[in-house]
Amino acid sequence: MKVLITGGAGYIGSHVVKLLGQLNSDIDILVVDNLSTGHKEAVLYGKLIKADLEYTGIIEKIIKDFKPDVVIHFAASIEVAESVQNPVKYYKNNTANTINLLEIIKKYKVNKFIFSSTAAVYGNPKEVPIKETASLSPINPYGQSKAFVEEVLRDLSKSDKDFKYVSLRYFNVAGADPEGKIGQSYKNATHLITRALKTAKGEYEKLYIFGTDYPTKDGTCIRDYIHVVDLAQAHLDALSYLLEGGESDIFNCGYGYGYSVKEVVDTVKKITRIDFPVEETDRRPGDPAVLVADNTKIKDVLDWKPNYDDLEFIVKTAWNWEQNRRF
Ligand code: UDP
Repeated sequence: MKVLITGGAGYIGSHVVKLLGQLNSDIDILVVDNLSTGHKEAVLYGKLIKADLEYTGIIEKIIKDFKPDVVIHFAASIEVAESVQNPVKYYKNNTANTINLLEIIKKYKVNKFIFSSTAAVYGNPKEVPIKETASLSPINPYGQSKAFVEEVLRDLSKSDKDFKYVSLRYFNVAGADPEGKIGQSYKNATHLITRALKTAKGEYEKLYIFGTDYPTKDGTCIRDYIHVVDLAQAHLDALSYLLEGGESDIFNCGYGYGYSVKEVVDTVKKITRIDFPVEETDRRPGDPAVLVADNTKIKDVLDWKPNYDDLEFIVKTAWNWEQNRRF
């Protein structure tokens, strides 16, 4: 079987490549990544081609030559705050580039597609935990850029009965490979756990808590943090599902409970044993108060079984990576 993975040198993609590579040597893995935020060292299995999805001619040639059975599409921009400041970048990288990729996939009759979506498509949910049937009303360009693609995928699968996709709506992905070989590695990481760990390490003077007046128990935002290896496993489960003839579908990826920003900060201090400075400041534009997944569907339909649903373990693996990282 041939699997093409866009963005496979990035944080989540590289963990999927590792799980797939460990699983079975008969799987031919080709990673396509522009290495803008990914790292070639993160690709532990398969082959890597450095290419940008913007250049459709090159992408078309890669797909024509490789003839993948499945495409797993990670390549995207992922920061909410940046998307508010630079929406065009998000609509281009996340929406336009994905539509171009789908056009090529359709031309070469690649009929299985796994898409990295996000809980940000829900915006401020009316009910929590959030079910996949909740209405989509993103409140930032990042979420909107992914919601547009979900609509395209839905219409594409309706128009072409052979095309099947799974869209995985990620909640807050964190942690690192428990073996310490790969982990998150961005120059200016903005995500809470990474930022807190880097502050513990002394890379930043202090950690800012964005908003303490949200309608939550301690006033800070609540998120459903999922370990990156459990999320990677969800992709393998989605792959098996599609290979067994599963219908197109959408699944939340989260544990079904959340932690506040303050609880995460306390956990990071506990694990690192470093009492780094924290300052409470204004809300960050585009942040919903609470995002927690209802994960009943992924457990029932994909038989997904999380192994690492433990915030301390998430922080421990991320801390191990931060201290010993190779890239
Ligand atoms: N957050 C924070 N300080 C930081 C980074 C994040 O208070 O330095 C908050 C952010 O406002 C949000 C939560 O932590 O409420 C999770 O943010 P993150 O960027 O990790 O993920 P997102 O939910 O935006 O995808």
